[in-house]
Amino acid sequence: MVAKVIDGKEIAKKKRQEIASEVRALKEENIFPGLAVVLVGNNHASKTYVNNKEKACREAGIESFLIALPEEVSQEELLREIAELNKREDVHGILVQLPLPDHIEEKKVIEAISPEKDVDGFHPLNIGRMMTGQDSFLPCTPYGVMVMLEETGIEVSGKHVVIVGRSNIVGKPAGQLFLNKNATVTYCHSRTKDLEYHTKQADIVVAALGKPNFIRSNHIKEGATVIDVGINRDEHEKLCGDVHPEVAEKAAYLTPVPGGVGPMTITMLLFNTLKAARQSKALSKA
Ligand code: NDP
Repeated sequence: MVAKVIDGKEIAKKKRQEIASEVRALKEENIFPGLAVVLVGNNHASKTYVNNKEKACREAGIESFLIALPEEVSQEELLREIAELNKREDVHGILVQLPLPDHIEEKKVIEAISPEKDVDGFHPLNIGRMMTGQDSFLPCTPYGVMVMLEETGIEVSGKHVVIVGRSNIVGKPAGQLFLNKNATVTYCHSRTKDLEYHTKQADIVVAALGKPNFIRSNHIKEGATVIDVGINRDEHEKLCGDVHPEVAEKAAYLTPVPGGVGPMTITMLLFNTLKAARQSKALSKA
């Protein structure tokens, strides 16, 4: 079997066009969706991610505001900046690029973002809402995975989904979103004994462990769907996922890296910003 490639770039393009057209409609009503991106320090990868997000905003007609702060900024100063952004009417979404320098407590910063502007979906209120199946901002990467599967016509209900990785931003929320769609979910992590035993039973494997080419053919059941969330560099500094290319010969569907989950993540950020802007309109009318 040779896996069908799930083209994240193509799905993202289609979704971004839909978002751009909804942004235009909102502008006709004098609402100009805006995203504030807070970047602390000079981390090269973070800068690249922020540039990509700004470019995607521009293309969708969303205003983006970059708040670049020095590496040594104090936690108090950062919290003050966020409080300002919470108040601004032209800012509908706030994203703080992670990771933050060690002297700043990530948890405190995330909790300072107004839940109505938390377009990353990391605030505990949004996480709690997601867990209880209420409307909320969904974390962009797992949300992007769900949209990809939906667009590809892959049924999730009743399937056994094995998630490899349990981070707060990818693995954990991914499992919850699959559960909300009636899948049976197994979480695996670094303390899991016999990973292969678990992944081999999966109809859908989500690899989000951050280890180059780690998931091999022996981990996968013939005909499974394999979602590769990983963004890594291999020993030649080449971009690669968490799933080895040989898996394409066993899986029915596979997401490529690059061009798979990555473009969907930014797309869902745009979607969440649009949603926040729409909700602000509803609030201002209430
Ligand atoms: P983290 O490092 O925060 O989490 C990695 C998880 O994988 C942990 O839960 C860890 O277990 C688990 N893990 C590590 N090694 C193993 C192993 N050998 N076997 C089983 N489980 C293991 O990573 P993130 O969740 O932030 O990111 C995961 C990957 O996804 C990275 O490559 C990252 O670059 C990429 N990423 C991609 C995005 C996209 O847009 N496509 C967005 C965000 C991330 P434990 O908890 O026990 O330590």
